[in-house]
Amino acid sequence: MRVFATGIHQESNSFSPLKSMASDFYMCRGQEFRETAGIRILIDAGCEVIESVWARAVPGGTLRFDEFMKMVDDMLEPLYKDTKGFDGVFLPMHGALDVEHIGSGEAFIAARIREIVGSDVPISAPLDMHANITYSLVNLCNIIYGYRTAPHTDMFDTHARAAKMLIKAMQEGAIPKTQIIRIPIMMPGENMMTSTGIGKDVISFLPKIEQEENIWCASYFVGMAWVDCYNNGAAVVVSGISNMDKGMGKAQELAKFVWDNRDKFEYQGIAMEPLDTVNFAKEHESDGPVIISDSADNVTAGAAGDNALMLNLFLKNGIENALFAAIIDPVSVKKVLEYKEGDAINITIGGCFDNDSEKSVLENAVIKKINLSLLAEMPKSCVLSYNGIDILLFDKRKPVFDTETLKAHGLSFEDYNILVVKQGYLSPELLEASKHAVMALTTGNCNQKIERLNYKKLIRPIYPLDGCDIVLKKWRVKNFNENYI
Ligand SMILES: [Zn+2]
Repeated sequence: MRVFATGIHQESNSFSPLKSMASDFYMCRGQEFRETAGIRILIDAGCEVIESVWARAVPGGTLRFDEFMKMVDDMLEPLYKDTKGFDGVFLPMHGALDVEHIGSGEAFIAARIREIVGSDVPISAPLDMHANITYSLVNLCNIIYGYRTAPHTDMFDTHARAAKMLIKAMQEGAIPKTQIIRIPIMMPGENMMTSTGIGKDVISFLPKIEQEENIWCASYFVGMAWVDCYNNGAAVVVSGISNMDKGMGKAQELAKFVWDNRDKFEYQGIAMEPLDTVNFAKEHESDGPVIISDSADNVTAGAAGDNALMLNLFLKNGIENALFAAIIDPVSVKKVLEYKEGDAINITIGGCFDNDSEKSVLENAVIKKINLSLLAEMPKSCVLSYNGIDILLFDKRKPVFDTETLKAHGLSFEDYNILVVKQGYLSPELLEASKHAVMALTTGNCNQKIERLNYKKLIRPIYPLDGCDIVLKKWRVKNFNENYI
């Protein structure tokens, strides 16, 4: 069994003013790609895997068209050159990649591959739970398998499951098909965690669909709210063979359950207005650590990460012993690098990408640390101390997920009562490390109040933007023929 493997993984935020570039991606190739769970399983099953690149990037703004096209050529090169033909395609992707002039980058790549391999070669695509699924992607991929955890801890498990399905298709000579039920609901990912509440109920329903006749796998996709695209929203997606009616009936049950409970998807933790989080931190710092996430400037959901709004609130309210990790500001990092550790500096930080982001003016800030990373993909950083607050600045967008990342930049989490990060829901590592966690409902590219954003391409009506009076007939169930090309 000869398998072609490639993939691309970036979650887009089309509200970010920063366009993503090819250089933002880490190109996982060769042995490193072959060691990932999905390909490992294919190799262990005796497949000959011809791989190109699995391109991965931190979530960011819409990917530039010309940059994307260069990447597509790189990804598909072995396919262009191949003369022997393939029995299957393994295609790990995100599902919410927005490309300038194109829309869904994933659908574009799947279409290119389908053009080359033809209609009788199964394509298996593991996707992120925050994918905005297009009909064309459903039409082009025989197997779609989504993550089942948020925060995500099962990316490689999902790759493994999708690889096993691909092996099954190749061994049985089957050409599975994928069907979708769209649900006219969009929500920030923070509203659907999978360890508790309604999110847990949704995920635990999926095996029931998979028990039905001819069903191979079922997935639920929340969608990525901060992409202005026609296909934004939630969906139940099912892959299988032959008559899938019973499974699709169950999938309809799940869709109806989601719809009926649309107002019950809630934040897992505490969320409050920015100034209230400052007061919360004041109250609880002695019993800390307190971790505050600046949710609208969430780098892990594609925001620019340059807003100094929370820092300004802290400074105004005289809060000390806090660490901000990190504010993205390449201009300030470059300026700091002209000095040495221990120097004092007058500097304005933040607001370097987004006109709506606040700047913060610091006079006589002390340069506590300078870190010059030797790894190209890691940011150069510096730490400024100002009025009892330490501020980690990065010269490129990178989220701080854990205390190890702080260590890598010369900081110890234990030294602070309060940590402010640019996330939405906290990563499992930080949630574990916190005594009190609170989400600040700031304004910006990842505004939790999605009703306040100006969507232009979205298909309407959709909840909650258009209220609750959307009738179920607006649900679209798509059934594709097996001969779909
Ligand atoms: Zn995700």
